[in-house]
Amino acid sequence: MSPERCVPLRVPCQSGSGKRSIPALGSVLDFGGRFLSAPADMPERGAGVIDGTVLICGGHVIDPANGVDGQFDILIRNGIIDQVGAIEPKDDVPEFDAAGCLVTPGWIDVHVHLRDPGFPDKETMETGTAAAAAGGFTAIACMPNTRPALDSPEVIADLLDRAANAGKVRVVPIATITRGRSGVEPADFDAVIAAGAIGWSDDGDTTADSAIMRRALEASVRLDRPVIVHCEDKALASGAMHEGEVSRRLGLPGIPAAAEEIIISRDLMLAELTGGWLHVCHVSTGRGAELIAGAKRRGVNVTAEVMPHHLTMSDEWVGGSRTLHNTRRLAGPDASPADPNTKVNPPLRSVADTRALIERIQDGTFDCFGTDHAPHAEPEKSGSTFEEAAMGLSGLEFAFPLTLALAEAGHLSLYDLIRLWTVEPARILREERGTLMLGAPADITVFDPEREWVVTPEELRTRSANTPLLGMTMKGRAVLTLVDGKECHRA
Ligand SMILES: [Zn+2]
Repeated sequence: MSPERCVPLRVPCQSGSGKRSIPALGSVLDFGGRFLSAPADMPERGAGVIDGTVLICGGHVIDPANGVDGQFDILIRNGIIDQVGAIEPKDDVPEFDAAGCLVTPGWIDVHVHLRDPGFPDKETMETGTAAAAAGGFTAIACMPNTRPALDSPEVIADLLDRAANAGKVRVVPIATITRGRSGVEPADFDAVIAAGAIGWSDDGDTTADSAIMRRALEASVRLDRPVIVHCEDKALASGAMHEGEVSRRLGLPGIPAAAEEIIISRDLMLAELTGGWLHVCHVSTGRGAELIAGAKRRGVNVTAEVMPHHLTMSDEWVGGSRTLHNTRRLAGPDASPADPNTKVNPPLRSVADTRALIERIQDGTFDCFGTDHAPHAEPEKSGSTFEEAAMGLSGLEFAFPLTLALAEAGHLSLYDLIRLWTVEPARILREERGTLMLGAPADITVFDPEREWVVTPEELRTRSANTPLLGMTMKGRAVLTLVDGKECHRA
């Protein structure tokens, strides 16, 4: 993208004055994110397979990077955003009818376990990026706990090659902090960034050695890239679920909130010591978020992400509940207790934690959402007891409906919801994406906020359906996903 083409979009930023008088065929959303009317049945939307050039017409466009919120058309030519506004149809440009839908910059997920290379029984480049596209994501950052681990320029170059050839969406790798993710010897911080990594993480584990963490944070000052941390004091975290009333009732070994909070505290102190950029993964406890909020107030260079499952599910789900917290969504029928598909790390915490985390979205402590998409093959989940089962949930295809349900319940505006899935993660990944700026690559998600669908393994693009949402009805679905103006998903 050449800089002279990056003309900031100048269109009214509030609904009302900026709206064209296109008759609304579908739903209309107010600024609290509530749906005022149901859409008509989805019409045939036109435009065969979109290959770089299309006019997306009649949608409600939300682009927080440019303060845009209103009804506009978007013209894409040769994979680039060419025009946003009231646009007449063009003879040489196919049209996609987005009436009743929202049209936003493509969503970006900062935290995905692609399992590639090394674990094709769980997920592959092809299936993981297909799940991303189906979930509305146009770019994903993949974690390095693969086999081999993403710890050298060669492995990263190979991954980027395969992503370019077989990936349906953009894939940006995160390199390890330590060689082989062993926690013993630092990776070559400079070389992996030069090879295309966007930061470093030993995710899945904490880097226990504080001196290595200090060196990584010092490298982050030099290279302006984040050290992305999974916070867990291993000695305290040998349990299988959140330690509390439910774990005691079920007789399952617990993981106390303190296991996470102790390491968040240490890493914040090291960030303060070095001035390095710390990015805290999947914060699951209210106290952990409070620690980050305090550090931000002191000027510590810290960013943080929060996951949809930690906002809408609690340890009661391990107990068998299927009520999505903090939403108005219908619950599924209760399930048997100790379903391995409720086992995740960090664990589903208390209901009070879900509420505290939502408050920390509202006060700006959290910079973005992420999915922590963690596919596992069937035998590692349902073939095991709860205590033996692998930790992790499939996330890419549910993340948006779950966070949309939070907006629908009034916990955040639709505008902020889109912001936390687009421009904010783009900033963390240092990607020039997450925007509909003229001249930007046309990464776009069109979604129908009213479309309902039932979660079944057949419905999912991921290879692994390890989710406690199986059988439940989700509301909201990406109907078109474009990467560089090219169609990579349509539903
Ligand atoms: Zn993790």
